[in-house]
Amino acid sequence: MSQFKTLDDLGDISGKVALVRVDLNLPMRDGEVTDATRARAVAPTILELADAGAKVLLLTHFGRPEGQRNSTMSTSLIQRTIQDVLGREVMFISEVSGPVVEQSLAIMRPGDIGLLENTRFWPGEEANDADFARAIAAHGDFYVNDAFSAAHRAHASTEGLAHLLPAYAGRAMQAELEALDKALGHPQRPVAAVVGGAKVSTKMGVLEHLVGRVDHLIIGGGMANTFLAARGIAVGKSLCEHELTGDVAAIMEAADRSGCVVHLPYDVAVAREFAPNPPSLRVCNVHDVAADEMILDIGPQATEALADALKTCRTLVWNGPLGAFETPPFDTATVALARTAAALTREGSLVSVAGGGDTVAALNQAGVTGEFSYVSTAGGAFLEWMEGRELPGVAALRQAD
Ligand code: AMP
Repeated sequence: MSQFKTLDDLGDISGKVALVRVDLNLPMRDGEVTDATRARAVAPTILELADAGAKVLLLTHFGRPEGQRNSTMSTSLIQRTIQDVLGREVMFISEVSGPVVEQSLAIMRPGDIGLLENTRFWPGEEANDADFARAIAAHGDFYVNDAFSAAHRAHASTEGLAHLLPAYAGRAMQAELEALDKALGHPQRPVAAVVGGAKVSTKMGVLEHLVGRVDHLIIGGGMANTFLAARGIAVGKSLCEHELTGDVAAIMEAADRSGCVVHLPYDVAVAREFAPNPPSLRVCNVHDVAADEMILDIGPQATEALADALKTCRTLVWNGPLGAFETPPFDTATVALARTAAALTREGSLVSVAGGGDTVAALNQAGVTGEFSYVSTAGGAFLEWMEGRELPGVAALRQAD
């Protein structure tokens, strides 16, 4: 991964000003931060820079204020959480550029940390406006991007700044890019991909990209219903995108051409009502789904076959649950396969990388998040990476000199 610079490439930064893009878009309820995971993820980078004597200015978006000041989305609301996570004092700075930032820097000592206001209070952020980016860059000696989850956006703080200052990947960004490279860039073969979740339509790009790159493509969730229907199997009242039959056929043909095995379930868990532990729950062959039933999970035989396939693989990339995992017992297949993947990872035979909001929730439910090789909390950025797209924030780091 020598295409971009990391903190290891920084020389003496004592007294220098680091502009650090982080993702502190923390979830809030009733004015309180409900989950500080994203703050913990960027803490090592911030502390490393501060301990090396830099004056650290943090840049983040927070909510969607759409180019206007909005007190309910001020980063001052997350200042205390960041302080608690870092165990250091953090100064809130109510602008991202101009005299207020200048004055704050004048009183900051080397090693001090400042939290700038929400970048999205200014329309120049999302427009990636050159003047806006230049005004911010004027305060910094170098730029660090530690926000992979925002790297699919070409905004001033995620992309523009990288062209204006010496640019480096932070530790979280570096770990994410290294893990993703191991999973799909330069993976050990055979490679398996699990693509689950609700709809084929939202993951068409992912399927098209993966089909030519992986050896096993495991289709789960509502997406499997669309694949089954395209093969002429009656799926009853299941969530299904019948209009995508042609697209699914094209994916199956591409898979045949590139020697990729597409795994569809041959047994499924079905019910007449979508509720926890419904009385009508049963497991059946995919050919026996009744007209008034819904497929809500893949079945035990299919799950076992997938586990056997995983045992032959060296690399796994996973996005999307195999069933409606929020509603028991339709988390059964997802939990079982996640535990198999975790066990294989523990044994050292599998590199396992998973990502996406629902996927992280499902792995948490299975209790195996910590046992995967890498779990990405990035949603949109992870999916775009699975589509094989170059993320603007990452591309800008690679081009930076
Ligand atoms: P996605 O955001 O595309 O990854 O989709 C995740 C959602 O798909 C979760 O909320 C699951 O409950 C849902 N899901 C997975 N399998 C099914 C299924 N067989 N029928 C209905 N919804 C499903």
